Amino acid sequence: MRRISVFGATGSIGESTFDLLMRQGGPSAYRTVALTGGRNTRRLAEQARALRAEIAVTAHDDCLPDLRAALSGTGIETAAGAGALIEAADRPADWIMSGIVGAAGLAPGFRALRHGTTLALANKESLVTAGPLLMAEAARHGARILPVDSEHSAIFQSLLGDDLSAVETVTITASGGAFRDWPLERLAGATVAEASSHPNWAMGQRITIDSASMFNKALEVIETREYFGFAPDQIRVLIHPQSLVHALVTFRDGGMMGHLGMPDMRHAIGYALNWPERVHLPVARLDLASIGTLTFQEPDPVRYPALELARQVMVTRGHAGAAFNAAKESALDAFIEGRIGFTAMAGVVAETLTRLSAGTGLGNPVTSLDNVLDMDAEARRVAEGIMAQRKV
Ligand code: NAD
Ligand code: MG
Repeated sequence: MRRISVFGATGSIGESTFDLLMRQGGPSAYRTVALTGGRNTRRLAEQARALRAEIAVTAHDDCLPDLRAALSGTGIETAAGAGALIEAADRPADWIMSGIVGAAGLAPGFRALRHGTTLALANKESLVTAGPLLMAEAARHGARILPVDSEHSAIFQSLLGDDLSAVETVTITASGGAFRDWPLERLAGATVAEASSHPNWAMGQRITIDSASMFNKALEVIETREYFGFAPDQIRVLIHPQSLVHALVTFRDGGMMGHLGMPDMRHAIGYALNWPERVHLPVARLDLASIGTLTFQEPDPVRYPALELARQVMVTRGHAGAAFNAAKESALDAFIEGRIGFTAMAGVVAETLTRLSAGTGLGNPVTSLDNVLDMDAEARRVAEGIMAQRKV
């Protein structure tokens, strides 16, 4: 029986993964090793019971008593904290979903690779902050990383049977997010509630706000560079309001392969779960005749400054990805907490990168997880300092 673990089981990606696991036989088809979550211990316990997990782990120490109580008498082990997440990743599994949000997802996924696992990677921050390290670790241990982000799963599928050297460019699409059609002058006053509603995808709050600011696409451009190894100028972004074409690959003979489907993450998750097989998945079929029109446009650099920042990060490389992501996470926290406005986020990230590039080390090659985590902490400190000074 295949051993599986789900990190971030209670989130949007985690729930979709849980749904597929249950539909594909649940505990009679999979031996569930670890499930992890955050403060929603009631839901984590429900999932752990349903899949008969070996261990359930909450990220928060203060949530452990609730989790223990919810699982008492089941024989399911419980644990809490960042260290317990790493220990859970040390329990060998054949397939692991990396579905934690943010840089917190990096260390558990990285640890799991040493057991030669197949890591289904939704946590794009892992590749953005430590791409070369992660890919080298996977190669060293014969582990496999399968992309779960819809655009990257789409590129992966569009490349089947072709050599990477035959690729001229890749295009990832973006819906344009909640504010695509807003007048620019309204953006500064956008509220958290307005930024938290996505036109096409139902996702966690943080990635939904990152879609409105295009920071999500900026992370995905870097993720594309790190996973597939394309040069920065081979990677394009197109606004595609319908979110039905997820990515396009243009080959050197001028031909293009694209991947289409309804905006439902269970496609990309199910593809990674069953790879290299394709199985029936419970996703709605795309009815092109009823949709009628697919439209595309170039992203406006004034509306979406995050995309230019991604270019700079790809050129600097080294620890720039870790700095970029950490500054973005700090700015996003501040926006959610009402400390800065929506359009201030990009300025905070840009200034953090400028200040850090004045020191040494930003462009140095990534050689250890500790260095990445140090840069992550430093960038958060710098970003918080900038926001405190600005009093925005
Ligand atoms: P979410 O907020 O819905 O869920 C996040 C999960 O991680 C929850 O289980 C939460 O408890 C856990 N978590 C949060 N902070 C944690 C911490 N510090 N330590 C340990 N666990 C923590 O997020 P999501 O939308 O499911 O996104 C998860 C990841 O997948 C992100 O990296 C996101 O960019 C990526 N992704 C999501 C989607 C989507 O449709 N939701 C699509 C593509 C990629
Ligand atoms: Mg995506």
